[in-house]
Amino acid sequence: MTTDDGPLATAKAQLHQLEQELSHRLEETDQSDSRPKMDSAVGRLTFMDEYQQHQMAEHGRRNAESQLARVRAALVRVEDGTYGKCARCGIDIPPERLEYMPEAPFCIQCQG
Ligand SMILES: [Zn+2]
Repeated sequence: MTTDDGPLATAKAQLHQLEQELSHRLEETDQSDSRPKMDSAVGRLTFMDEYQQHQMAEHGRRNAESQLARVRAALVRVEDGTYGKCARCGIDIPPERLEYMPEAPFCIQCQG
């Protein structure tokens, strides 16, 4: 059986799609200037609102960045032939887990 077939190919396609989505999202947040502005007639409340939104955007951005790193690491493991095995203890990661989170590097026990 070739690696271009079966669950591995599905995982690979999913990972590629995730990679694209995440890099796209990061590009968008790069372009939108979400820094809070103190100028003009914005009141303190508005400033706090903007600040909070900025914090949330930052949080989402950091999440996207770390997920992207995991996705890329998973793609390397696909090429290595070690994808689907826990990077710590080496057991097979349950398929349900990979379906839910294709970039997962660890089994549930090691992640826990
Ligand atoms: Zn493990």
